[in-house]
Amino acid sequence: MSVSENLLQLRREIPPHVQLIAVSKTKPISDIQEAYDAGQRAFGENYVQEVSDKQQQLPTDIKWHFIGHLQSNKVKYLAPFVDWIHGVESEKLLVEINKQAAKHQRVIRCLLQVHIATEESKFGFDAEEVLAYCKTTDFSQYPNVLICGLMGMASFTEDISQIRNEFRQLKNTFDQLKTLAFQHETTFAELSMGMSGDWKIAVEEGSTMIRVGSAIFGNRNYTTK
Ligand SMILES: *Cc1c(COP(=O)(O)O)cnc(C)c1O
Repeated sequence: MSVSENLLQLRREIPPHVQLIAVSKTKPISDIQEAYDAGQRAFGENYVQEVSDKQQQLPTDIKWHFIGHLQSNKVKYLAPFVDWIHGVESEKLLVEINKQAAKHQRVIRCLLQVHIATEESKFGFDAEEVLAYCKTTDFSQYPNVLICGLMGMASFTEDISQIRNEFRQLKNTFDQLKTLAFQHETTFAELSMGMSGDWKIAVEEGSTMIRVGSAIFGNRNYTTK
């Protein structure tokens, strides 16, 4: 099936309250354009150089979601155009995003990344840490970022019940934070969880944003990049 067919098929399956982020990392401009022509406007990318190149060649009404691991010294390249950063995993990174966004008089929407998987390699706050962080931080000192919710990735496993459990934990943390009266309470509404292999489970567990790549664009071939 083509990119646009995959996309339309997926849209039929996703409940209307869930936003679809089309993850186009490693994929060519022509694929993104095809998805755009089929109505898709939110795209997710993982690599700073790649997304910077792509956004210059594509329509300006695309919403770019940076979903990869982001080093503080690279934020300046994204700040002129990125709409969302999903993987905010430290105070240091948030401070830098705020600083760089301010230079462009922009407000960048951020999701705090929470580590829910068992693998060591995945980044993020622990659940306890993110709760403590939000309780003790005055986000009004960062007017150029908006804390819009949480993001997480489940373990890479065949064990459906484990995946479900991890998503459920993240939803639980999200609900606890929503009830906290911290500064961005009203905008704290997004829970980014679910990818090609596990988005249905994520949606059942309360996801509001799914990040889907290979189910739209086909498998990625990293060796040709
Ligand atoms: C690549 C990636 C995705 C999309 O993965 P698929 O399995 O291709 O849907 C989603 N989220 C993050 C953080 C990614 O790096």
